Amino acid sequence: MKITLLGASGGEVTGSAYLVETRQARLLVDFGLFQGGRKTEALNRLPIVCQPTRLDAVLVTHAHLDHTGRLPLLVRNGYTGPIFATSATADLARLILTDSARLQAQDAARLNRKRERAGLEPLAPLYEPGHVEQACGLMRPVPFHEPVAVAEGVTGCWVDAGHLLGSASIQLTVEEGDRRRVVVFSGDLGPPNRPIVQDAEPFEAADVVFLESTYGDRDHRPYDETIAEFAGIVKEAVDKRGKLLVPTFAVGRAQQMVYHLAVLFHQGTVPPFPVYLDSPMAIEASQIYRGHPGLLDEEMQAFRQQGVFPANPAYFKTSPTPADSMQLNDLEGPCLILAGSGMCTGGRILHHLKQNLWRETTHVLIVGYQSRGGLGRQLVDGLPKVKIHGETIAVRARIHTLGGFSAHAGQRDLLAWFGAMAGSKPQTVLVHGEDGPRQALATLLAERHGVRVQLPGLREELEF
Ligand code: ZN
Repeated sequence: MKITLLGASGGEVTGSAYLVETRQARLLVDFGLFQGGRKTEALNRLPIVCQPTRLDAVLVTHAHLDHTGRLPLLVRNGYTGPIFATSATADLARLILTDSARLQAQDAARLNRKRERAGLEPLAPLYEPGHVEQACGLMRPVPFHEPVAVAEGVTGCWVDAGHLLGSASIQLTVEEGDRRRVVVFSGDLGPPNRPIVQDAEPFEAADVVFLESTYGDRDHRPYDETIAEFAGIVKEAVDKRGKLLVPTFAVGRAQQMVYHLAVLFHQGTVPPFPVYLDSPMAIEASQIYRGHPGLLDEEMQAFRQQGVFPANPAYFKTSPTPADSMQLNDLEGPCLILAGSGMCTGGRILHHLKQNLWRETTHVLIVGYQSRGGLGRQLVDGLPKVKIHGETIAVRARIHTLGGFSAHAGQRDLLAWFGAMAGSKPQTVLVHGEDGPRQALATLLAERHGVRVQLPGLREELEF
């Protein structure tokens, strides 16, 4: 059996994709988009080894773009086979890929205006909305915990990865002649005890493990501390009748924020006040979450029974249209607006920041990673003035940066997950991590469990 790393390796975190080739079958596990600077995004073409028309199956761990974003590229190049994923992943992937096709078209149009002026031929976007539709048409929903025959001699089993609604680790059982081997793909693992989703489930044994290592070198601060600090910031802003702006990713983080606010209201920690979900994508993602009640954790199930969720519409309002969003300009505090994009690189949050950053009564709450050079990072770094849509805006708002909301397991969590199957001494391959975290985790795994750990480069082929 040969497994080729077509992404999220060699120190790269995005573009997760594995080509698995056995004597009888060829399949992909994930086929994600490379995200980041122009150099990274240039990797987003179809690798020659893929040969979509010769693939038997595609298996998906979860819906995030860096795990699904190149699926439409496969169908564009002739793939017509099944794409296996949990049903929540299929639902969320449709939403995320539709948005991705829209962004690809926007990027291509912007680039082509420049190319036209330079006398160059226009470039086509990576894929079109039609390819997303076709890819979604190939999705085959799989249950959790039940083995599914995915190709000749290959069975897949999806278990909860605790990272996002529907997210999974996948266990592949490969039969070649009289040899039978078990290969585990961790996917992205969530930290334990996070709200809404269930905890990641470990496996007991494996011959080969592909383990993510995003936070292989550090632990997160205790989650209770993060929530206590969050409650403190919100309460203080509300007491002063402030307007809170929260840049947030539409899928996962937005629902997590709504969850904590509704619970704080319910517990009486913060008196209820208006919260606006100002993102069509986040509104749709929340509907998908509601459509899969069986995947929610016990605490969330209990809150649903007590009527805490769905969150009270008297306080939790949605702004589906641009006109609804504009109306929030005139709103007096206290209120909180959740809007994308999460890194302030575009979307409705820009217009709220432009309208409110110069006011002393505004609070900006940063709850996610901000990439270098972006507006979000400039706010975190405390710049006194920023540029939005070409206009200089004074920053008089209070900027709060709150770590600890990560949907990725910390070092201790990764070690615990791996520890459950360490006794079987699997050959271990670390992926989805920058060089520092990957190396730190490799050293710990080798020391504690005496396993052989590999840190492959991009496009590297591994024989098992
Ligand atoms: Zn993910």
